[in-house]
Amino acid sequence: MKKRNMAAPLRLQATSASPGVASGPAYIAEQPAAAALSQSAVSGHAELAAAIETATEELQNLATGTDAEGGDIIDFQLEVLRDPTIAEMAGVRIDAGENVVFAWVGTLDGYIRELESAEEDQLRARAVDILDIKNRVLAALTGTPVKDFPAGSIYVGKDMEPSRFLAHDWSAGGGIALYAGSAAGHVALLARSRSVPMVIGAGRFVTAGGQHIRVDGDAGVIVLQKGKEGAAPIRPELPVSSTVPTDNGMLQTSDGAQILLSINLNALEEIDGIAPTTAAGIGLMRSEFAVASLADAANEEKQLAIYRRVLDWADGRSVTIRMLDVGGDKPLPGLAASPALRGIRLLLARPEITRVQVRALLRAAIFGHLRVMLPMVTFPSEVDDMRQIFREEAAELARRGVPHRLPSIGMMVEVPAAAFMLEQFEGADFFSFGTNDLAQYLAASTREDADFAAHREKTAPAVLRLLAYAVKLAGSKPLSICGDMAGDPRWTAELLAAGIRHFSMAPAQLPAIRSAIVGLNAGGTKAAGE
Ligand code: PEP
Ligand code: MG
Repeated sequence: MKKRNMAAPLRLQATSASPGVASGPAYIAEQPAAAALSQSAVSGHAELAAAIETATEELQNLATGTDAEGGDIIDFQLEVLRDPTIAEMAGVRIDAGENVVFAWVGTLDGYIRELESAEEDQLRARAVDILDIKNRVLAALTGTPVKDFPAGSIYVGKDMEPSRFLAHDWSAGGGIALYAGSAAGHVALLARSRSVPMVIGAGRFVTAGGQHIRVDGDAGVIVLQKGKEGAAPIRPELPVSSTVPTDNGMLQTSDGAQILLSINLNALEEIDGIAPTTAAGIGLMRSEFAVASLADAANEEKQLAIYRRVLDWADGRSVTIRMLDVGGDKPLPGLAASPALRGIRLLLARPEITRVQVRALLRAAIFGHLRVMLPMVTFPSEVDDMRQIFREEAAELARRGVPHRLPSIGMMVEVPAAAFMLEQFEGADFFSFGTNDLAQYLAASTREDADFAAHREKTAPAVLRLLAYAVKLAGSKPLSICGDMAGDPRWTAELLAAGIRHFSMAPAQLPAIRSAIVGLNAGGTKAAGE
């Protein structure tokens, strides 16, 4: 008789970070890389040579089967790629300490600008051929590839990097079980917006790769099955949109105050399946999750395509794209930077990254109602310095005859020093409260800390008091809230009482906040009969 495996499954109590249930084979992660990777000059040269080789092969393949005119263009492009002076010029930049992707972009941009300003029509027409080569090589320069894990498995590890979450294919199900982690961390935020079940704070537990494991994000439990057999992976439940309101996110409190509800967007795929008529627009697009590598950060055309797609989706509604909030717990793979440098400070310290994004945003602005938001602003001069970069890049685009528009430029209010002095930020066109970081800095805690959830709860009254104070300093400028508090109905009344009228949140939170608002008066008091 066949012996049955009677071992009872082991239940581990942990904490929920994203609801839903998933099961599958465990994937045991190695420790995330300690620090952002730096690139040596030697590896930069080799990486560039390999990328040029890849681009050359691609072009050679394209050349077979193309007509004479196409063949001419490709021949010209191949000639340029084989010209050693281009690689040499990029090599000088690499030796001077520039990252390979920006060394390449800087070299080719110089060449493109030269051609664009040539007297002869024929030469000017060549600029676009060089732009094509620039992007082809850039696509081959993958920066630092993120190691993926098998689709449908349960990721088990101490922590997880946002870039790894983003690089993974979640369509086959799967979930996340972390020994440590935080429900307020960025991976948890991504998991909630993509309906990937996740539990955190399980403590170190022993499991073998491939062992069947179940993540219950509703109960905050991990179940370890003995043996490798088990039920088929459960697909994550997609949010059901039974009765989708089409009020464009415009509603009223019981006493008639106008309220706007917008959505936060982390990755482009999230807009698939959401009707734009459900919201007033996008109150926060975290561009750092759409621009997931240094190579993307250097790729103006790719960024333009991403921003344009969001603006097209929004169909005239306002779209607030936050500039790259990288650094700290959101490192940009391949970018060597001090972990203390984050948000606007990093953007101002790394103009080669910033100017690419600024150009992409300026060019995207002609396709809809774009607002640009600056992350982690602490001092008024930071807004002024960034505005100056926008002006300079706009002037350069105008000189080159590239269509663009200067969008309104606002800021996150997520650093206490800025919130307390909001009236001094004359350079900002609008404000949006980031309660996640406000709570972190007010509580002298960190979002990666397992105790942060508790710290955040206890800090909520201080955050609310600061918001009420800062709303008064904001004067008549447009004001919204896009931190997690905006999507938590427990705080809706107090946020209304503080004077906030525009809430931006994960799409899944819209129904709860909608019903909270209709039961309240503008001052946050309960409506009659509620
Ligand atoms: C915040 O800090 O509240 C915020 C919205 O920004 P993020 O969560 O991306 O840091
Ligand atoms: Mg923030």
